[in-house]
Formats: sequence, structure tokens, C-alpha cells
Amino acid sequence: MYYHALNDHLRRRFGRKVYKLSLRGVTTCPNRDGTVGTRGCIFCSDSGSGEFAACGADIAAQLRDAQRRVAGKVPPDAGYIAYFQSFTNTYAPVSVLRPLFSAAMAPQDVVALSVATRPDCLSDDVLDLLSELNQTKPVWVELGLQTIHASTARYLRRGYDLHVFDEAVGKLKARGIETIVHQIIGLPGETEEMICQTADYIARSGADGVKFHLLHVLRGTDLAADYAAGSFQTLAMEDYFRLLCGCIERLPPHMVIHRMTGDGAKRDLIAPLWSGDKKTVLNALRRYMLQHDIRQGRLYGGT
Ligand code: SF4
Repeated sequence: MYYHALNDHLRRRFGRKVYKLSLRGVTTCPNRDGTVGTRGCIFCSDSGSGEFAACGADIAAQLRDAQRRVAGKVPPDAGYIAYFQSFTNTYAPVSVLRPLFSAAMAPQDVVALSVATRPDCLSDDVLDLLSELNQTKPVWVELGLQTIHASTARYLRRGYDLHVFDEAVGKLKARGIETIVHQIIGLPGETEEMICQTADYIARSGADGVKFHLLHVLRGTDLAADYAAGSFQTLAMEDYFRLLCGCIERLPPHMVIHRMTGDGAKRDLIAPLWSGDKKTVLNALRRYMLQHDIRQGRLYGGT
């Protein structure tokens, strides 16, 4: 079994254990405020797809609170990634973003900044800011692609076309900014072939890392209404493992896998309920990968 796990990558790169601290910066999204859409992506809950982000505007205080919460679990020499996870974290003027990001990167034990956003929210001045900050500490940008298929993207109400993603990755890479792409496995209407096509596309996109999510249904989302109406079913665990491993084998061996399951708030989880026990799922996944000798890169066809 081989896959390029984030933890191994971080340990090699920074020489110590590194943990993410979720922060809250920009608290809206063009897919919610009417610029692109008003109802958001169909799976997105009110918290903007960042279930565990700390609340409040003061970044230094958020960092301290987040560090306090993990204090008993992390070694004293741990490093941290300041992670702006919820909503669209570049959807604000540079004059607003600069102090947020600078404050997040300021502590000596913060080793990198990670910013989740949409590819249609990366103007040149925002890219210039990220590029400037990237000279001091690594800056990662996460893009929620989810699928390459236009029909599914319409159902999701993603609100941008594939070429917008391509252009954003091109601009980020031209500035040397590491790029992480999200894919959701198990989207309504997608066949195994379609899922593999998205993984193949990400494999050749130039991205540095990928986050895989199991489609899960959260209370209060429009997806939950469709699920209740019986429009689609969620995946069984074994099916998810098979599809996920098919995707992993399509990636180039160097691409870092940042996540292999979803991470929704358990209290709001409607389906699949098996995904709520993350530790058990990851243990079962590891067994599956060993049994099937899964190897990242085995089905990678190159550029
Ligand atoms: S772009 Fe992100 S924050 Fe905005 S609606 Fe979609 S998932 Fe939610």
C-alpha cells in the first residue's frame, strides 16, 4: 500500500507534527449573497462548509482559543497551519484580507497559511497579496471543484464553469502558490466512470494536493430535502472505499492527499450515518487499502 499522506508530508517538510487551526475570516460567499447565487451550493450548511471553524473576528484571539482547545493533544514543539476554512476566504478587498492573513501568519509556530476559496474569487490583486505572503511562509489555496461534470455542477449550484477552475489553477501555479483541489465522491447522478474522470482531471491539473470528501447529507441543507424525497442514495462504506481508492490510484505519486473522508458536524449528519465515526472509518479504510494493495500513481497516465 502506498499513498502520499498529508501527515507524512508535513513531518518531512516541517520536521515536526503540524496541526490545523480553523479560523473564521470572511463570513460570506458570492454564492450566497446574490452575486452568483442566493442559496449556496446544495450541500453547504449555514456555516459555509467549515463546520469546525472558530468564531469571532480577532484572529490572534481565535488562534489562542484554537490552540487552547488542542493543547492537551499536541506536543509542545508542534507547528500549526492557520486555516481559513468556512465560506469564501478571498471574497473581500485586499485591505480587509491583508490584516486577517498577516495576523494569522504572525505567530512563530504558525508554519503555513491555508485559504479555502472559490476559483472565481481570485482577482489579480488578491493573487498578488497571496504571492507576497507566500514569500514569508507557505501559502496554500484550496479550491472546491467537487466535479468536472457540468450537469452535476449545475445540480450542486456550484456557480462557475470548469474553465474558471483551470484559469485559477494556472494563475496560482504561475505565482508558485500551492493549490489543493476538493472532489466529492458519491454525487447524485455520477457513475463510477464520471468519478474517475474527475480524479484524472485533478491528477493532470497541476494541483499539488487533493481533498476527497464522501458526499454526506447535513440537516438544514437543500441536499437534505432531496435526500428525504428519495432523489438519491448515499454510498455504503465499502463502495466509498472502492471509488476513493480508484481515484487515489489515478493521482500522480507526489500529489499530497489532504483528506480521505468528509468532516461534517456529527450532530447535523443525516446520511450516511457510518461516516460519523471518523476513527472507525479511517481504520477500516486502512485495512481495505492494505488488503487491496492500493498504490497511488498505479493508474496515473501522466500529463
Ligand atoms: S462556495 Fe463554499 S461557502 Fe459558498 S455556498 Fe458553496 S460550499 Fe458554501
